[in-house]
Amino acid sequence: MKFNFDNSYLLLPTDFYELTELNPVSAPAVLLVNDSLAAQLGLDAEMVERSAEELSGSSRIPHSEPLAQAYAGHQFGHFTMLGDGRAIVLGEHITPSGERFDIQLKGSGRTAFSRMGDGRAPLGPMLREYIISEAMHALHIPTTRSLAVTSTGESVQRDTRLPGAVLTRVAASHIRVGTFEYAARINQVKALADYTIQRHYPELESSETPYIDFLYAVIDRQAALIAKWQCVGFIHGVMNTDNMAISGETIDYGPCAFMDAFDRAAVFSSIDRQGRYAYYNQPGIGQWNLARFSECLLPLLNTDTEQAIAIAKEALSSYETAFDRYWTEGMAAKIGIADPLKEDRELIGELLAVMEDLELDFTQTFRKLSLHEPVDAALDSWKENWRTRIQHEDSPYELMKKVNPAVIPRNHLVEKAVNSMDLMFFKELLRVVKDPYNDQHPAIYKTPAEDSEQVFQTFCG
Ligand code: AMP
Ligand code: MG
Ligand code: MG
Repeated sequence: MKFNFDNSYLLLPTDFYELTELNPVSAPAVLLVNDSLAAQLGLDAEMVERSAEELSGSSRIPHSEPLAQAYAGHQFGHFTMLGDGRAIVLGEHITPSGERFDIQLKGSGRTAFSRMGDGRAPLGPMLREYIISEAMHALHIPTTRSLAVTSTGESVQRDTRLPGAVLTRVAASHIRVGTFEYAARINQVKALADYTIQRHYPELESSETPYIDFLYAVIDRQAALIAKWQCVGFIHGVMNTDNMAISGETIDYGPCAFMDAFDRAAVFSSIDRQGRYAYYNQPGIGQWNLARFSECLLPLLNTDTEQAIAIAKEALSSYETAFDRYWTEGMAAKIGIADPLKEDRELIGELLAVMEDLELDFTQTFRKLSLHEPVDAALDSWKENWRTRIQHEDSPYELMKKVNPAVIPRNHLVEKAVNSMDLMFFKELLRVVKDPYNDQHPAIYKTPAEDSEQVFQTFCG
């Protein structure tokens, strides 16, 4: 297996990582290879296919320098010291076009940060991450990617014994809000901020106020990201600060799900009993996490603490404005409005209220509106107002068809796909969700779960 590794993370103070030995497994086999991602990375997909030993963490890839990253995080509101307990970064691969990506193995065995965990992952959750991250990418939502899934030939003990697997994850980086929280604890925020700016926000390096600009830029990317989640009905499920990437990518697909019927309070995660990470809380939690981020940066924002706090507060209030703008633009596009006016928020709100009342399917409702197909009669009077509003738009239906997917990875199908013994259905579902704006897919992929098929709870791996 050939990667073009250049491992800049090793230049950070050594407290930021632990160099890690590999944990070989007995019978690795590559189950899935992402051909298009391999091509984008400048890798030969057939070579990936032949690399079970390397991609299961059983043998060393040339020039890889496996490390587990140290981080901390607020989990459901509580601060904890964490770190990669079941993942290792092999190195940073430089693509032919010069882009830098972390190549991470997830489920590759114990590390210095494993605590009581086994460092392993069951196959089902790795397939789940693979398919949902690829669906997100197809929906133009920034996300980590999945290059391969490799079975280990070993089982892992959860409630029952399950087959084990390793996911090869590709990410702009794995620097999290939690990495900054860790840096603050060890008094190394400047080193991490300088590194992160160089890696993700190089345009800020020449600024006179690079750290303030950095805070604003991270806030802006998160606002944009979470607005996109809201616009497709995606619920992340575990928005702990260690699961929020500074790059602005969606990261760490655990008990995440897309909703069928529109329900602002939708929660799927079995561990989220209070609904902290419910759909309608996501924007606010984003800001809460960014507040934790801004606290880490305080010493860099101004030498005077009072002033630093004032700067952070102002930056955090820019989140609300930015989120509101991204959300309004995103939702307006879903009803064919390219340049939303203030009043359009009301029109959007009215639609959502009816959709929620009638428990209409989020994805199908917007797609049907895009295709001039009938929707519920209760929307007739709303549609009249809406038609009047879009009369003067250039090509509202074209816009709508571009932004409203015909298919999303519906939770009941994902559950079925990741839990079935063979990968036939998984591969079929994967093919469909990678092509989300196409109406020609069979009806089962476009329609919500029947009552008997509904899946209300999702679990961490
Ligand atoms: P997550 O909920 O996946 O974001 O993980 C939170 C923390 O728990 C991270 O530090 C993980 O590395 C760690 N963790 C999760 N599963 C395991 C496992 N099976 N073994 C060891 N550490 C784990
Ligand atoms: Mg995590
Ligand atoms: Mg995780």
